[in-house]
Amino acid sequence: MGAYKQTVLYVEDNELNMDLMHHIFKRNLPSVLLLKADTAELGLQIARQKLPDLIILDIGLPDLSGYEALESLKSKEETRHIPVLAISAFAQRLDIERAKGAGFAGYITKPFQVKAVTETVEALLTGGS
Ligand SMILES: [Mg+2]
Repeated sequence: MGAYKQTVLYVEDNELNMDLMHHIFKRNLPSVLLLKADTAELGLQIARQKLPDLIILDIGLPDLSGYEALESLKSKEETRHIPVLAISAFAQRLDIERAKGAGFAGYITKPFQVKAVTETVEALLTGGS
């Protein structure tokens, strides 16, 4: 882990999205270590163990919704401060407003764009929120 400056956890059950994110980080965010979880339960466990600088959370997960997972993160002292970026195929303005209201630090719609992901992650990692 020595060369990495920051850590981001991506919780996502879709393999193609996970692969794409992996490549975005490798190419555009090489100093950031990307941790991966394919269920909310595993994501919450890794979040508590590794205390990442940012969590990217899929809204549609097989076990808990992204909203429930966010609530769990916000209810715990050690993970409450970590910004959480929502990622979802729901792209209506109401969906985005609901996410912001729930406490997500940002919202990215699928299919996600390389530039949007890179810029949003960079902004959140430099304390943009
Ligand atoms: Mg999903």
